[in-house]
Amino acid sequence: MSIERTGIAISPGFSVGNALLINQAKTVVERRKIKSSEIVKEVNKFQSAVEVSKNEIRRMKLNIDNEYKIEHIEILDFNILILEDEILATEIIELITKKQINAEWALNEVLTNKSKEFAFVKDLYMQERLADFYYIAERITKNLRGLNQNFIQIKNNTILVAHDLSPIDALKYCKNGKVNGILTDLGGTTSHTAIIARSLGIPTIMSMIDISTLIKPGQKIYVDGYKGKVKWKVNKVEKDELDILKKDYLSFQKDLFKFSKLSGETKDKKTISIKANIEISSEVRMASKYGAEGIGMYRTEFLFTNNEIFPSLDEQFNDYASLFDENLFDEVTIRTLDIGGDKIQDYTHLENNPALGLRGIRYSLANPATFKTQLNAILKVVEKKNKKIRILLPMISNLIELDKSIKTIKEVQDSYDIDPNLISIGVVIETPSAVLLIKEICDSVDFVSIGTNDLIQYTIAADRTNETLEDIISHYQPSVLRMLKLIKENVPKGTYISICGEMANDVNCLPLFVAMGVRELSMNYYSIPKIKKVIHDLSLKDCENIFNQCLELSTPKDIKDELYNLIKNKLPIYGSL
Ligand code: PEP
Ligand code: MG
Repeated sequence: MSIERTGIAISPGFSVGNALLINQAKTVVERRKIKSSEIVKEVNKFQSAVEVSKNEIRRMKLNIDNEYKIEHIEILDFNILILEDEILATEIIELITKKQINAEWALNEVLTNKSKEFAFVKDLYMQERLADFYYIAERITKNLRGLNQNFIQIKNNTILVAHDLSPIDALKYCKNGKVNGILTDLGGTTSHTAIIARSLGIPTIMSMIDISTLIKPGQKIYVDGYKGKVKWKVNKVEKDELDILKKDYLSFQKDLFKFSKLSGETKDKKTISIKANIEISSEVRMASKYGAEGIGMYRTEFLFTNNEIFPSLDEQFNDYASLFDENLFDEVTIRTLDIGGDKIQDYTHLENNPALGLRGIRYSLANPATFKTQLNAILKVVEKKNKKIRILLPMISNLIELDKSIKTIKEVQDSYDIDPNLISIGVVIETPSAVLLIKEICDSVDFVSIGTNDLIQYTIAADRTNETLEDIISHYQPSVLRMLKLIKENVPKGTYISICGEMANDVNCLPLFVAMGVRELSMNYYSIPKIKKVIHDLSLKDCENIFNQCLELSTPKDIKDELYNLIKNKLPIYGSL
């Protein structure tokens, strides 16, 4: 008997492969009994992980260059002190030896107990150090696991199965093209892991609750990323049916691909530039193949995957310059570092609520050296390549940040000999605050790009990575439409508006953007052909009408149905998907 499970369809496509189970969850630690013959090896492993951790922190100290330098160094020194504490190490080694348990478990047991002792200390400073124990436990655990993970070999046709997967790990495991499916217990549609999966074109299903405990390593699995369905242990009849389904999907994709050459034009000749979002620079080739007319947003934070040592000016220069290789595009948009949130976090500044913390431009302004290095790399590319670059600033939520950012860009720009027309500055409108300040923002910049992913998260106050909120965080919510209406009504006439959030690749939402008069849509390149096809069948009048009708509706379902009714006959087989 076959087994079937469903989850949220995150990235379309159909694939078959063998399961590789990985567990990247931060808090999950396995308790494992070890044999007496393994004790020495386990103790050695622990001691090496402590050494690696110490060296990592020492390297981090060398790289700190921000206005909180002294405080950060103090914190790191305290971390080193914990790592060098002989009593602590002895306790952990004793636990491994006497109870014959694995190092990860012993470490977490001892450090959790220590942190409990600290919880009762009244001194505020010492209370704040509580976080350091968790942090150290996590760092050593990571390094203990890292020692084992050296042996993970990704084979062809791998289906990655995990409890949770960070965006960085998704990139690390998937960018070599051997992974053709991802299944996770957790995760939501606009999480950054989902965005990475879509950008790499890997069929992905998330929010599968307990899939990581059901599937055995090596199991052959069928992943239907269109419908969010997974099947395994299939019999011959089911296998034949799945093979036919796979063929149908493939021919659907082929049909769609034909539209990649179209221009982004409505029936009544209103043009919208259709561009690609990319997460790694090498994606420019695929973006061009799928019909992108430019790069509407390069999320550079994934270049900063090693969150302890940021790439140097030269490394960044080479990466950004490569966007112009083969002359595929005349202009690209580079978004400055959007560290924080569910992406990488700065280990020198761990926060309780990173989505509301030192994220995006806030991080760059607090770390001027990092910000300036990135700007220097961008501007050097403009100078050397004589090509246009749009600098896009993430998470601007007030005018002081905007002013400081623009001043910093101008200051760096002064040391380059470049035609000012080759540089433009834009802001990602992704907080309700930025929407309310849209007029003033537009007066200071050349363009704005609406980051619907965060705009929705912050408007609805719902975590974009939390799969249990999937219905609430829908982009069909009436409040989201009203946000778009606010933008439409308040941007100065002639403003160049782009959409760079995931909403841009939902064909149903296309009429809303046409009605708003947006000039550009930027999305994962796989979505470009279908958007280009549908845009040709729309007229401004139809779009304005439906936008107004949707504004009258009060539930996400009603809004989605209304939009779907307009679109369903405009795309081959879309209506039946
Ligand atoms: C957004 O928030 O919509 C956006 C484009 O940025 P990111 O998804 O990288 O946060
Ligand atoms: Mg964002």
